[in-house]
Amino acid sequence: MPGASAPTAAAAEGFRPQLVTVSTPTRADKDRLVALGLDLTEHAGHDYVEVVLHRAADELALAGAGFDWRVRIPDLLQRESDVNAENRAYAAATAVSPLPSGRDAYRGLGDYHADMDRLVEEHPGLVRRLTLPRRSLEGKSVYAVEIAHDVDAPEDGRPVFLMMGLHHAREWPSGEHAIEFAFDLARHYGSDERITSLLKKARVIVVPVVNVDGFEKSFNDGRLVDLRGIDEGGTGSILATPGNAYKRKNCRMADGLAPLANECALASSPGGFGAGVDLNRNYGGFWGGPGAAAEPVQATYRGAAPFSEPETRNIRELISGRQVTGLITNHTFSNLVLRPNGVAPDTTGPDGLPLGDPPDEAAMKELGDRMAAQNGYTSQHSWQLYDTTGTTEDWSYNATGGYGYTFEIGPDEFHPPFPEVVDEYLGAGEYAGKGNREAFLLALENAVDPAAHSVITGRAPAGATLRLKKTFATPTWSGAIADTLDTTMTVGAGGGYTWHVNPSTRPVVKARQIRVVGSEPLKRQTYTGTTLPAQPTEREFTVDRAADLLEVKLDWPTPDDLDLYVLRRNADGSLTEVGRSTGSVGEKERVLLDSPAQGDYVLRVENWASAAPSWELTASLYDATTEEIGGLVENWTLTCEKNGKVLQQLPVVVDRGQRVKADLKTCAQKWSQS
Ligand SMILES: [Zn+2]
Repeated sequence: MPGASAPTAAAAEGFRPQLVTVSTPTRADKDRLVALGLDLTEHAGHDYVEVVLHRAADELALAGAGFDWRVRIPDLLQRESDVNAENRAYAAATAVSPLPSGRDAYRGLGDYHADMDRLVEEHPGLVRRLTLPRRSLEGKSVYAVEIAHDVDAPEDGRPVFLMMGLHHAREWPSGEHAIEFAFDLARHYGSDERITSLLKKARVIVVPVVNVDGFEKSFNDGRLVDLRGIDEGGTGSILATPGNAYKRKNCRMADGLAPLANECALASSPGGFGAGVDLNRNYGGFWGGPGAAAEPVQATYRGAAPFSEPETRNIRELISGRQVTGLITNHTFSNLVLRPNGVAPDTTGPDGLPLGDPPDEAAMKELGDRMAAQNGYTSQHSWQLYDTTGTTEDWSYNATGGYGYTFEIGPDEFHPPFPEVVDEYLGAGEYAGKGNREAFLLALENAVDPAAHSVITGRAPAGATLRLKKTFATPTWSGAIADTLDTTMTVGAGGGYTWHVNPSTRPVVKARQIRVVGSEPLKRQTYTGTTLPAQPTEREFTVDRAADLLEVKLDWPTPDDLDLYVLRRNADGSLTEVGRSTGSVGEKERVLLDSPAQGDYVLRVENWASAAPSWELTASLYDATTEEIGGLVENWTLTCEKNGKVLQQLPVVVDRGQRVKADLKTCAQKWSQS
């Protein structure tokens, strides 16, 4: 509702923006919740998702869909005010925090820019500032810092590690941790052996604020919330709602158009969440698939087209022009280390076949687990949070093969009191001295480890430009976009070169394992019955052999609301629920259990409607086999160039962990003649 004065309306209704925990026992429930278009947080477990309710209508939508929820933060406005008070007290009591920069308070956009300039000034030859190619929708420049031993030297074949923050405007700690890592590296270079060695082997690029427009709005409004009485110095009457404090998206107010002056700041959708494109659904990889909305008003709006937004194009062009062998994109909150893919392996992908796990699943899980052991987070597949497509890694990993992770920083808030930011970075309690700092360092170590990427090596004329290029089609969910990776290095004085690169074959076309369920069940039992409201019916089923899958299906002719529960009978006779399907009216119910333990099961049917329909219940045991599909091999095109003229061109195929020699003798022969 553009232009409507929703903040006042919300206040008038007496509804306070709140954070609630919605019960979602099954994946179908999560899908149903996602479809409601509410403002989902990145905090979810296997049976719940936390949601921001901005207005009374959100609460009604939740209730109307039959969800159960419990209120966790009853008044986000009050909480914002309390956090601000806590932050003022911490800053007043703290001269220098233990963070690498010594900061004692959240940075605003200007602070980020000043700190990046300061790093460059303090560390000439080690830190340089980059301006990303695209300005934001409001015309702001987007900056990064590049940190490396001899950073101003021409590209010398070192791998790149990329660290990002603030794709989502309200997730302030995500930018803080990114820039603190930059300070950490810069200030410990030369004195800390491990960091010095890493900066000799890698170039590190930090983009602390990807969504500059959105973050500015969130920060400006958020820090103004102050509910203390005016005589105590508060500003209570300035903001009757959190304003844009909980804004998630960018400042795209209408597809294809730049916003008018102040249009984004004044956008009055509740909490600003309705306006804009969700940048972490706007990347090209699997764009338009599950877990991303097609309607602009939704919290996960994917945008009008893949990479329609300058903020995501910035990151795409950065990654396409460098050999980024590892990246972390930071978000808040949920204490998670997430790895691709964004949808479950049994999801039917764009090619009509199950998507499967990424070919690098084992290695990415291993690194994810090691990082999580440092910060105490949970290491898991991205889809285990909920389905997503069009995220940073959906594109970056599938287009380049560089490992990518999403960190969900912090346990329970978008921008908690600042001391929590300090603790999450440096580690606290049993993680003291570890934290995200150590997790980030592990990711950087992995990015320089030749076993985790590929190496091309050989001899070429000193001063020659080597170029690796690759053009291909990246699958979206229903089509494809053209992608080009184009990276260069300059051969050093000795004539030998070693180039750390990503594998030539993209993960998305590599062979993948999918699970194929047998066409005939090992055992099947069918039951019929009738269930009255409030009088559950139970049937017994015995898993009497080893099987890969137990499928329980409930079907009935009328559009009534029956729910299905599957419980396992324990040795002492008690029952443990192992699965349930509680779709809304008109949906049939289905429960799938992987490798079900042998023993007795109870299948329970409950009736939530007034009629008492007859139903049919089927329990089936299946075997499943693993099959390999796909399996293309792709090459880089390597050229050796002198002043822009190509002297030699050859294809190079190199797999992960491989080191190959490229023969550039022709280039050497032609060098002196040209
Ligand atoms: Zn986020």
